[in-house]
Amino acid sequence: MTHTSESEVLIVGGGLAGLTVANYLARQGREPLIVEQATDWRESGYGIGLWEAGLAVLDDLGRLETVREHAAAPDGFEIRSSLGGLLTRTRIAPEQTLLLAIYRGDLHAALRDEVPDDWIRMGTSPERIDERSDEVVVTFDDGTKETFGLVVGADGVHSTVREQCFTRWTVSEHDTYIWSLWASQDVDVGSDMVSVWGPGSEGFVARVGDRIGFNLAAQLDAPPEPPARERLREQAETIGWKVPELLAGTEDEPFFDRVRDVTCETWHTDRVVLLGDAAHAVHPISGMGASLALQDARVLAQELATGSPERPSEALAQFEQRRRDAATRVRREARFESAVMFLESEHFRRLRDAAVEHTPLFGWFLERRASGQ
Ligand SMILES: Cc1cc2nc3c(=O)[nH]c(=O)nc-3n(C[C@H](O)[C@H](O)[C@H](O)COP(=O)(O)OP(=O)(O)OC[C@H]3O[C@@H](n4cnc5c(N)ncnc54)[C@H](O)[C@@H]3O)c2cc1C
Repeated sequence: MTHTSESEVLIVGGGLAGLTVANYLARQGREPLIVEQATDWRESGYGIGLWEAGLAVLDDLGRLETVREHAAAPDGFEIRSSLGGLLTRTRIAPEQTLLLAIYRGDLHAALRDEVPDDWIRMGTSPERIDERSDEVVVTFDDGTKETFGLVVGADGVHSTVREQCFTRWTVSEHDTYIWSLWASQDVDVGSDMVSVWGPGSEGFVARVGDRIGFNLAAQLDAPPEPPARERLREQAETIGWKVPELLAGTEDEPFFDRVRDVTCETWHTDRVVLLGDAAHAVHPISGMGASLALQDARVLAQELATGSPERPSEALAQFEQRRRDAATRVRREARFESAVMFLESEHFRRLRDAAVEHTPLFGWFLERRASGQ
Protein backbone atom coordinates (compact mmCIF):
# COMPACT_ATOMS: atom_id res chain seq x y z
CA MET A 1 0.00 0.00 0.00
CA THR A 2 1.28 3.47 -0.89
CA HIS A 3 0.95 6.29 1.62
CA THR A 4 1.76 9.97 1.39
CA SER A 5 4.88 10.68 3.39
CA GLU A 6 4.70 13.24 6.17
CA SER A 7 7.84 14.67 4.60
CA GLU A 8 7.45 16.49 1.36
CA VAL A 9 11.15 15.99 0.51
CA LEU A 10 13.05 12.70 0.46
CA ILE A 11 16.86 12.94 0.69
CA VAL A 12 18.57 9.72 -0.37
CA GLY A 13 21.99 9.49 1.32
CA GLY A 14 22.99 10.94 4.68
CA GLY A 15 26.51 11.91 3.60
CA LEU A 16 27.97 15.42 3.41
CA ALA A 17 25.65 16.73 0.69
CA GLY A 18 22.51 15.10 2.12
CA LEU A 19 23.05 16.37 5.66
CA THR A 20 23.91 19.87 4.45
CA VAL A 21 20.66 20.04 2.47
CA ALA A 22 18.81 18.81 5.57
CA ASN A 23 20.43 21.57 7.68
CA TYR A 24 19.26 24.21 5.24
CA LEU A 25 15.74 22.78 4.87
CA ALA A 26 15.42 22.68 8.67
CA ARG A 27 16.13 26.41 8.73
CA GLN A 28 13.32 26.91 6.20
CA GLY A 29 10.92 25.05 8.52
CA ARG A 30 10.79 21.98 6.29
CA GLU A 31 11.20 18.44 7.63
CA PRO A 32 12.79 16.16 5.04
CA LEU A 33 13.08 12.40 5.42
CA ILE A 34 16.67 11.16 4.96
CA VAL A 35 17.24 7.52 4.06
CA GLU A 36 20.74 6.16 4.56
CA GLN A 37 21.79 2.70 3.45
CA ALA A 38 24.42 2.28 6.20
CA THR A 39 23.03 0.76 9.40
CA ASP A 40 25.21 2.97 11.61
CA TRP A 41 27.71 5.83 11.20
CA ARG A 42 30.81 3.80 11.97
CA GLU A 43 33.37 4.31 9.19
CA SER A 44 37.03 3.76 8.51
CA GLY A 45 37.15 7.34 7.27
CA TYR A 46 39.76 9.44 5.57
CA GLY A 47 41.06 12.95 6.03
CA ILE A 48 39.56 15.80 4.07
CA GLY A 49 41.03 19.15 3.11
CA LEU A 50 38.25 21.74 3.04
CA TRP A 51 38.88 24.93 1.10
CA GLU A 52 37.32 28.35 1.58
CA ALA A 53 34.34 27.57 -0.65
CA GLY A 54 33.31 24.67 1.60
CA LEU A 55 34.22 26.50 4.80
CA ALA A 56 31.94 29.40 3.80
CA VAL A 57 28.96 27.01 3.73
CA LEU A 58 29.81 25.71 7.22
CA ASP A 59 30.10 29.30 8.41
CA ASP A 60 26.73 30.12 6.88
CA LEU A 61 25.21 27.19 8.79
CA GLY A 62 26.89 28.23 12.05
CA ARG A 63 28.93 24.97 12.09
CA LEU A 64 32.38 26.36 11.32
CA GLU A 65 33.48 26.79 14.95
CA THR A 66 32.50 23.20 15.80
CA VAL A 67 34.39 21.94 12.77
CA ARG A 68 37.40 24.08 13.64
CA GLU A 69 37.59 22.45 17.09
CA HIS A 70 38.28 19.10 15.41
CA ALA A 71 40.34 20.36 12.50
CA ALA A 72 43.86 21.63 11.90
CA ALA A 73 44.70 24.77 9.96
CA PRO A 74 48.00 24.05 8.20
CA ASP A 75 50.72 26.73 8.27
CA GLY A 76 51.50 26.13 4.63
CA PHE A 77 51.30 23.83 1.66
CA GLU A 78 54.40 21.98 0.45
CA ILE A 79 55.15 20.08 -2.71
CA ARG A 80 57.95 17.54 -2.46
CA SER A 81 59.35 15.22 -5.07
CA SER A 82 60.76 11.79 -4.41
CA LEU A 83 63.50 12.78 -6.87
CA GLY A 84 64.82 15.69 -4.86
CA GLY A 85 63.05 16.96 -1.76
CA LEU A 86 61.15 20.23 -1.30
CA LEU A 87 60.08 21.88 -4.57
CA THR A 88 57.95 24.70 -3.26
CA ARG A 89 56.18 25.94 -0.15
CA THR A 90 53.31 28.41 0.08
CA ARG A 91 52.79 29.92 3.49
CA ILE A 92 49.22 30.36 4.72
CA ALA A 93 48.89 33.44 6.91
CA PRO A 94 47.39 32.58 10.35
CA GLU A 95 44.56 35.08 9.95
CA GLN A 96 43.62 33.52 6.63
CA THR A 97 41.50 30.35 7.00
CA LEU A 98 42.00 29.02 3.50
CA LEU A 99 42.06 25.42 4.30
CA LEU A 100 41.20 23.06 7.15
CA ALA A 101 42.22 19.43 7.47
CA ILE A 102 39.62 17.29 9.19
CA TYR A 103 38.61 13.67 9.67
CA ARG A 104 35.56 13.08 7.47
CA GLY A 105 33.75 11.48 10.43
CA ASP A 106 34.12 14.69 12.48
CA LEU A 107 32.83 16.87 9.64
CA HIS A 108 29.92 14.49 9.19
CA ALA A 109 29.15 14.55 12.94
CA ALA A 110 29.15 18.38 12.95
CA LEU A 111 26.56 18.40 10.16
CA ARG A 112 24.52 15.66 11.87
CA ASP A 113 24.30 17.61 15.15
CA GLU A 114 21.55 19.86 13.83
CA VAL A 115 19.48 17.14 12.16
CA PRO A 116 16.94 15.42 14.46
CA ASP A 117 17.52 11.65 14.67
CA ASP A 118 13.92 10.90 13.76
CA TRP A 119 14.42 12.52 10.35
CA ILE A 120 16.94 9.83 9.45
CA ARG A 121 15.96 6.26 8.56
CA MET A 122 19.11 4.15 8.77
CA GLY A 123 19.65 0.89 6.86
CA THR A 124 17.19 2.01 4.18
CA SER A 125 17.54 2.44 0.45
CA PRO A 126 15.09 3.10 -2.37
CA GLU A 127 14.52 0.10 -4.57
CA ARG A 128 12.28 1.77 -7.12
CA ILE A 129 11.56 5.41 -7.88
CA ASP A 130 8.57 6.24 -10.10
CA GLU A 131 8.25 9.88 -11.03
CA ARG A 132 4.77 11.11 -11.96
CA SER A 133 3.62 14.59 -12.91
CA ASP A 134 2.48 15.54 -9.40
CA GLU A 135 4.48 13.22 -7.10
CA VAL A 136 7.28 10.68 -6.82
CA VAL A 137 6.41 7.17 -5.62
CA VAL A 138 9.33 5.51 -3.83
CA THR A 139 9.45 1.81 -2.96
CA PHE A 140 11.98 1.16 -0.20
CA ASP A 141 13.96 -2.03 0.30
CA ASP A 142 11.71 -3.05 3.22
CA GLY A 143 8.82 -3.19 0.72
CA THR A 144 7.05 -0.01 1.94
CA LYS A 145 5.90 2.63 -0.57
CA GLU A 146 5.65 6.37 0.05
CA THR A 147 5.00 9.44 -2.10
CA PHE A 148 7.03 12.66 -2.00
CA GLY A 149 6.94 15.99 -3.81
CA LEU A 150 10.69 15.99 -4.40
CA VAL A 151 13.52 13.44 -4.27
CA VAL A 152 17.10 14.61 -3.69
CA GLY A 153 19.79 12.13 -4.77
CA ALA A 154 22.73 12.70 -2.42
CA ASP A 155 23.81 9.08 -2.55
CA GLY A 156 27.37 9.42 -3.80
CA VAL A 157 29.38 7.90 -6.64
CA HIS A 158 27.31 4.71 -6.92
CA SER A 159 24.01 6.62 -6.76
CA THR A 160 20.83 4.52 -6.95
CA VAL A 161 18.79 7.66 -7.68
CA ARG A 162 20.96 8.37 -10.72
CA GLU A 163 20.60 4.79 -11.90
CA GLN A 164 16.82 4.78 -11.43
CA CYS A 165 15.89 8.21 -12.78
CA PHE A 166 18.59 9.29 -15.26
CA THR A 167 19.88 7.69 -18.44
CA ARG A 168 22.74 9.79 -19.81
CA TRP A 169 25.59 9.46 -17.33
CA THR A 170 28.92 7.69 -17.04
CA VAL A 171 31.13 6.53 -14.21
CA SER A 172 34.77 6.49 -15.39
CA GLU A 173 37.05 4.12 -13.56
CA HIS A 174 40.61 5.44 -13.40
CA ASP A 175 43.61 3.16 -13.12
CA THR A 176 44.38 4.99 -9.86
CA TYR A 177 43.87 3.44 -6.43
CA ILE A 178 43.92 5.25 -3.12
CA TRP A 179 44.74 4.11 0.41
CA SER A 180 44.00 6.30 3.38
CA LEU A 181 45.42 5.80 6.88
CA TRP A 182 46.05 7.48 10.23
CA ALA A 183 49.23 7.44 12.30
CA SER A 184 50.15 8.85 15.69
CA GLN A 185 52.06 12.13 16.05
CA ASP A 186 55.37 10.36 16.73
CA VAL A 187 56.56 11.12 13.21
CA ASP A 188 57.55 14.77 12.80
CA VAL A 189 55.82 15.94 9.62
CA GLY A 190 55.71 19.62 10.58
CA SER A 191 52.54 21.70 10.44
CA ASP A 192 52.15 22.02 6.68
CA MET A 193 50.01 19.94 4.35
CA VAL A 194 52.44 18.02 2.21
CA SER A 195 52.04 16.44 -1.20
CA VAL A 196 54.90 14.13 -2.21
CA TRP A 197 55.14 13.25 -5.89
CA GLY A 198 56.55 9.83 -6.73
CA PRO A 199 56.64 7.99 -10.07
CA GLY A 200 52.99 7.45 -11.03
CA SER A 201 52.02 8.10 -7.42
CA GLU A 202 51.40 10.65 -4.69
CA GLY A 203 51.58 10.70 -0.91
CA PHE A 204 49.47 13.29 0.88
CA VAL A 205 50.14 14.08 4.54
CA ALA A 206 48.32 16.38 6.97
CA ARG A 207 48.31 16.72 10.73
CA VAL A 208 44.76 16.63 12.15
CA GLY A 209 44.42 17.05 15.92
CA ASP A 210 46.64 14.47 17.64
CA ARG A 211 46.94 12.23 14.58
CA ILE A 212 48.44 12.39 11.11
CA GLY A 213 46.23 11.54 8.17
CA PHE A 214 47.99 10.27 5.07
CA ASN A 215 46.84 9.05 1.68
CA LEU A 216 48.77 7.13 -0.93
CA ALA A 217 47.53 7.19 -4.49
CA ALA A 218 49.06 5.15 -7.28
CA GLN A 219 48.41 4.31 -10.89
CA LEU A 220 48.42 0.54 -11.26
CA ASP A 221 47.80 -1.83 -14.18
CA ALA A 222 45.41 -3.88 -12.05
CA PRO A 223 43.88 -3.72 -8.56
CA PRO A 224 46.46 -4.86 -6.00
CA GLU A 225 46.16 -8.54 -5.15
CA PRO A 226 46.50 -9.65 -1.53
CA PRO A 227 48.67 -9.24 0.44
CA ALA A 228 47.77 -5.61 -0.13
CA ARG A 229 49.87 -4.51 2.86
CA GLU A 230 53.06 -5.62 1.10
CA ARG A 231 51.99 -3.69 -2.01
CA LEU A 232 51.29 -0.66 0.14
CA ARG A 233 54.73 -0.85 1.77
CA GLU A 234 56.39 -0.94 -1.66
CA GLN A 235 54.29 2.03 -2.73
CA ALA A 236 55.28 4.00 0.39
CA GLU A 237 58.99 3.30 -0.30
CA THR A 238 58.57 4.49 -3.89
CA ILE A 239 57.01 7.77 -2.75
CA GLY A 240 59.54 8.29 0.03
CA TRP A 241 59.91 11.25 2.45
CA LYS A 242 58.18 10.35 5.78
CA VAL A 243 55.56 8.13 4.16
CA PRO A 244 57.27 4.74 4.91
CA GLU A 245 57.76 5.82 8.53
CA LEU A 246 54.11 6.84 8.84
CA LEU A 247 53.00 3.53 7.41
CA ALA A 248 55.26 1.62 9.78
CA GLY A 249 53.52 3.42 12.65
CA THR A 250 50.06 1.95 12.02
CA GLU A 251 48.61 -1.52 11.74
CA ASP A 252 45.10 -0.21 11.03
CA GLU A 253 43.23 -1.45 7.99
CA PRO A 254 43.41 1.32 5.42
CA PHE A 255 40.42 2.83 3.67
CA PHE A 256 40.96 1.65 0.09
CA ASP A 257 39.14 2.54 -3.11
CA ARG A 258 39.49 2.94 -6.83
CA VAL A 259 39.28 6.50 -8.19
CA ARG A 260 36.16 7.14 -10.23
CA ASP A 261 34.54 10.20 -11.68
CA VAL A 262 30.97 10.80 -12.67
CA THR A 263 29.59 12.84 -15.52
CA CYS A 264 25.87 13.27 -15.86
CA GLU A 265 24.33 15.14 -18.79
CA THR A 266 21.56 16.58 -16.68
CA TRP A 267 21.24 16.65 -12.90
CA HIS A 268 17.50 17.02 -12.62
CA THR A 269 14.11 15.94 -13.90
CA ASP A 270 10.89 17.69 -12.82
CA ARG A 271 10.90 16.26 -9.29
CA VAL A 272 14.23 14.48 -8.84
CA VAL A 273 17.63 16.16 -8.46
CA LEU A 274 21.21 14.94 -8.02
CA LEU A 275 23.96 16.76 -6.17
CA GLY A 276 27.46 16.17 -4.81
CA ASP A 277 29.26 13.02 -5.93
CA ALA A 278 26.02 11.53 -7.29
CA ALA A 279 25.97 14.27 -9.95
CA HIS A 280 29.65 14.98 -10.54
CA ALA A 281 32.20 12.98 -8.45
CA VAL A 282 35.68 14.30 -9.24
CA HIS A 283 39.14 12.80 -8.77
CA PRO A 284 39.98 13.11 -5.03
CA ILE A 285 43.32 14.63 -6.03
CA SER A 286 41.38 17.85 -6.62
CA GLY A 287 40.66 18.05 -2.86
CA MET A 288 37.38 19.70 -3.84
CA GLY A 289 34.65 17.02 -3.83
CA ALA A 290 33.41 17.85 -0.34
CA SER A 291 33.49 21.61 -0.95
CA LEU A 292 31.50 21.13 -4.16
CA ALA A 293 28.97 18.95 -2.33
CA LEU A 294 28.48 21.58 0.41
CA GLN A 295 28.14 24.40 -2.10
CA ASP A 296 25.62 22.38 -4.14
CA ALA A 297 23.52 21.88 -1.02
CA ARG A 298 23.46 25.57 -0.23
CA VAL A 299 22.47 26.61 -3.75
CA LEU A 300 19.80 23.90 -4.02
CA ALA A 301 18.27 25.04 -0.72
CA GLN A 302 18.35 28.69 -1.83
CA GLU A 303 16.51 27.85 -5.05
CA LEU A 304 13.95 25.67 -3.27
CA ALA A 305 13.30 28.46 -0.76
CA THR A 306 12.29 30.90 -3.48
CA GLY A 307 10.71 28.48 -5.97
CA SER A 308 7.24 26.98 -6.02
CA PRO A 309 6.94 23.94 -3.69
CA GLU A 310 4.21 22.47 -5.95
CA ARG A 311 6.34 22.74 -9.09
CA PRO A 312 10.01 22.37 -8.10
CA SER A 313 11.33 21.90 -11.67
CA GLU A 314 12.23 25.56 -12.16
CA ALA A 315 14.17 25.67 -8.89
CA LEU A 316 16.00 22.49 -9.90
CA ALA A 317 16.91 23.95 -13.30
CA GLN A 318 18.21 27.12 -11.64
CA PHE A 319 20.24 25.04 -9.21
CA GLU A 320 21.90 23.09 -12.01
CA GLN A 321 22.57 26.20 -14.02
CA ARG A 322 24.30 27.88 -11.07
CA ARG A 323 26.44 24.87 -10.13
CA ARG A 324 27.40 23.07 -13.34
CA ASP A 325 30.29 25.32 -14.38
CA ALA A 326 32.08 24.95 -11.03
CA ALA A 327 31.87 21.16 -11.16
CA THR A 328 33.03 21.07 -14.79
CA ARG A 329 35.98 23.32 -14.01
CA VAL A 330 37.08 21.24 -11.02
CA ARG A 331 36.82 18.03 -13.10
CA ARG A 332 38.91 19.56 -15.90
CA GLU A 333 41.55 20.81 -13.48
CA ALA A 334 41.63 17.49 -11.61
CA ARG A 335 42.31 15.64 -14.86
CA PHE A 336 45.16 18.02 -15.61
CA GLU A 337 46.53 17.76 -12.07
CA SER A 338 46.47 13.97 -12.12
CA ALA A 339 48.23 13.91 -15.51
CA VAL A 340 50.96 16.17 -14.08
CA MET A 341 51.19 14.51 -10.70
CA PHE A 342 51.22 10.88 -11.83
CA LEU A 343 53.95 11.18 -14.47
CA GLU A 344 56.02 8.00 -14.77
CA SER A 345 58.96 9.02 -16.94
CA GLU A 346 61.91 10.33 -14.96
CA HIS A 347 62.79 12.76 -17.76
CA PHE A 348 59.36 14.42 -17.69
CA ARG A 349 59.24 14.34 -13.90
CA ARG A 350 62.51 16.29 -13.75
CA LEU A 351 61.13 18.89 -16.19
CA ARG A 352 57.91 19.19 -14.20
CA ASP A 353 59.77 19.46 -10.88
CA ALA A 354 61.96 22.23 -12.29
CA ALA A 355 58.89 24.15 -13.44
CA VAL A 356 57.27 23.86 -10.00
CA GLU A 357 60.50 24.79 -8.21
CA HIS A 358 61.53 27.75 -10.35
CA THR A 359 58.26 29.38 -11.45
CA PRO A 360 55.28 30.79 -9.48
CA LEU A 361 53.01 28.19 -11.15
CA PHE A 362 52.07 26.39 -7.96
CA GLY A 363 51.40 29.54 -5.91
CA TRP A 364 49.08 30.73 -8.66
CA PHE A 365 47.29 27.40 -8.69
CA LEU A 366 46.83 27.44 -4.89
CA GLU A 367 45.37 30.93 -5.00
CA ARG A 368 42.80 29.81 -7.55
CA ARG A 369 41.93 26.74 -5.47
CA ALA A 370 41.64 28.81 -2.32
CA SER A 371 39.33 31.35 -3.90
CA GLY A 372 37.20 28.62 -5.49
CA GLN A 373 37.59 30.17 -8.96
C1 LIG B 1 40.34 9.00 -0.11
C2 LIG B 1 39.53 10.23 -0.41
C3 LIG B 1 40.04 11.48 -0.09
C4 LIG B 1 39.27 12.61 -0.33
N1 LIG B 1 39.79 13.82 0.00
C5 LIG B 1 39.04 14.93 -0.20
C6 LIG B 1 39.57 16.20 0.19
O1 LIG B 1 40.68 16.33 0.69
N2 LIG B 1 38.77 17.30 0.00
C7 LIG B 1 37.52 17.20 -0.55
O2 LIG B 1 36.83 18.23 -0.67
N3 LIG B 1 37.02 16.02 -0.93
C8 LIG B 1 37.74 14.88 -0.78
N4 LIG B 1 37.24 13.67 -1.14
C9 LIG B 1 35.92 13.62 -1.81
C10 LIG B 1 34.75 13.78 -0.83
O3 LIG B 1 34.87 12.86 0.23
C11 LIG B 1 33.44 13.56 -1.57
O4 LIG B 1 33.41 14.36 -2.72
C12 LIG B 1 32.24 13.92 -0.68
O5 LIG B 1 32.19 13.05 0.41
C13 LIG B 1 30.95 13.86 -1.48
O6 LIG B 1 29.85 14.01 -0.62
P1 LIG B 1 28.44 13.35 -0.98
O7 LIG B 1 27.54 13.65 0.14
O8 LIG B 1 28.05 13.73 -2.36
O9 LIG B 1 28.73 11.78 -1.03
P2 LIG B 1 29.13 10.85 0.18
O10 LIG B 1 29.84 11.61 1.22
O11 LIG B 1 29.77 9.66 -0.45
O12 LIG B 1 27.73 10.40 0.81
C14 LIG B 1 26.83 9.54 0.16
C15 LIG B 1 25.95 8.90 1.22
O13 LIG B 1 24.89 8.19 0.57
C16 LIG B 1 24.77 6.91 1.16
N5 LIG B 1 24.16 6.04 0.14
C17 LIG B 1 24.74 5.54 -0.98
N6 LIG B 1 23.85 4.82 -1.69
C18 LIG B 1 22.68 4.88 -1.00
C19 LIG B 1 21.40 4.33 -1.22
N7 LIG B 1 21.14 3.59 -2.31
N8 LIG B 1 20.43 4.57 -0.32
C20 LIG B 1 20.68 5.32 0.79
N9 LIG B 1 21.88 5.87 1.05
C21 LIG B 1 22.86 5.65 0.16
C22 LIG B 1 26.19 6.53 1.55
O14 LIG B 1 26.20 5.51 2.52
C23 LIG B 1 26.70 7.86 2.08
O15 LIG B 1 26.36 8.05 3.43
C24 LIG B 1 37.97 12.51 -0.93
C25 LIG B 1 37.47 11.24 -1.26
C26 LIG B 1 38.24 10.11 -1.00
C27 LIG B 1 37.66 8.77 -1.37
